Amino acid sequence: MRVLLVEDDPMIGEAIREALKDGSYAVDWIRNGQTALETLACQEYDLVLLDLGLPGKDGMDVLNSLRASNNRVPLLIITARDGVEERIRGLDTGADDYLLKPFHMAELLARMRAVFRRKGGTASPVLTNGAVSLDPATHEAKMHEGPSVRLSNREFALLQALMVRPGAILSRSELEERIYGWGEEVESNAVEFLIHGLRKKLGSEVIKNVRGVGWMVSKGG
Ligand code: CA
Repeated sequence: MRVLLVEDDPMIGEAIREALKDGSYAVDWIRNGQTALETLACQEYDLVLLDLGLPGKDGMDVLNSLRASNNRVPLLIITARDGVEERIRGLDTGADDYLLKPFHMAELLARMRAVFRRKGGTASPVLTNGAVSLDPATHEAKMHEGPSVRLSNREFALLQALMVRPGAILSRSELEERIYGWGEEVESNAVEFLIHGLRKKLGSEVIKNVRGVGWMVSKGG
């Protein structure tokens, strides 16, 4: 999952970026509203974390422009503004949730998972295709009735990218985009290495290779 963090406070931004990286997200961090809109126009994200008090273009303006251009990316507002009217306006403008600073990073991660669940149209917190199941809260996966195994951050990020749309084939670069943020070095065989690790933990049939195209988890087990 790739997340765009829009936050101008260096300390809060750094803390959130670290928490997201620990939570297996690929994170790109932007410090002002105008750059955020330009980035969102050319790069696809799974979720946006948006501060409201930003230099130049305000967070609410960013949200307005984004929804006016028909961009439906899941978006969570993170702000110190605690006025109820501001909160209502944010939600009515198309934010999916609202988190008041200061917050616990564990709550931020839980709310992000809840937004993904709602967007995915599923009430269950566990992703499954009928064969393998993956719990985004614990990063544990299991195959059929086999034992639960704990995945590394990047193994989790890769399997989650495939599990949100069983049957969809993702290319190497599409997988890399969901695992690595800007400035993170990607080794040439990183995807194969992670898939090798996942197959070792969960069995060789967990991920299917479509020769010359990419990888998938099967639809319906
Ligand atoms: Ca701010």
